[in-house]
Amino acid sequence: MEKQIRELMTITNGIPATDGDGVKMTRVIGSPELNMLDPFLLFDVFESDQAGDYIGGFPAHPHRGFETVTYLLAGKMRHKDSAGHEGVIEAGGVQWMTAGRGVIHSEMPEQEAGLLQGFQLWINLPAKDKLSPAAYQEYAANEIALEQHDNGTRINVVSGTTNKGTIGPVVNNITRPIYLDINLPQDQQFEQAVTMTSNSFVFVIEGELQVGTKKRALASRQLGILRDGDTVQFTAKHQSRLLLIAAEALNEPVARGGPFVMNTREEVMQAFEDYQNNQLIGV
Ligand code: FE
Repeated sequence: MEKQIRELMTITNGIPATDGDGVKMTRVIGSPELNMLDPFLLFDVFESDQAGDYIGGFPAHPHRGFETVTYLLAGKMRHKDSAGHEGVIEAGGVQWMTAGRGVIHSEMPEQEAGLLQGFQLWINLPAKDKLSPAAYQEYAANEIALEQHDNGTRINVVSGTTNKGTIGPVVNNITRPIYLDINLPQDQQFEQAVTMTSNSFVFVIEGELQVGTKKRALASRQLGILRDGDTVQFTAKHQSRLLLIAAEALNEPVARGGPFVMNTREEVMQAFEDYQNNQLIGV
């Protein structure tokens, strides 16, 4: 079977947003421009060396029904939840939290100055897994698989399997995500197999890409949605760093209520009620 290269269909820049206690960010998925890309509900990009932009952090708040993925490029964040789970995420590290039935957590900068840079991604859970027990997969930079090619390409494999067989430490058999942080030298090409039933996007951290057979340009700070095919393919016009993220679409109804994402409005109301009655997490 000949491979089918995905083309770059939609480009979005996101919108400036504030969340938590005044943290400034760019919301690229979960905005009026791009409400969601099944199963991705939200994608936030934060980057500032001004403490006032991030120092308030994200004080205690609940989640139910999906997964949150925090990946840091610079700085430190301390995570704490109501079940006593606590840890610090540092540059190059990932925290993959399956909120499932419920989590109440805080995410606070573990620094008072300097650069804080990273991403938060929300990945939806299907109905059958929305009320599963909360779970964490946390890996420091040195625990994330590194793949290096002779042409200078370097890939931090957070989740999924690359075409050369490198396997990321985060395992998720629900949406089977691919989460790659790729450094691509100028004029070099990169290819990644994806399933026909997955949705995929690329976010350019720096540089510029030419995507697909049509070589459509994707610039720094842009998110590009790649559609229809079993292969993602792009070339770096300049030395580039990017995230390539893909996961299986769920094709289920989505009912959002702030920190809760369920299938129906009634289930969202139930989540608010459980939260009020201290039953979010359950027993
Ligand atoms: Fe959160």
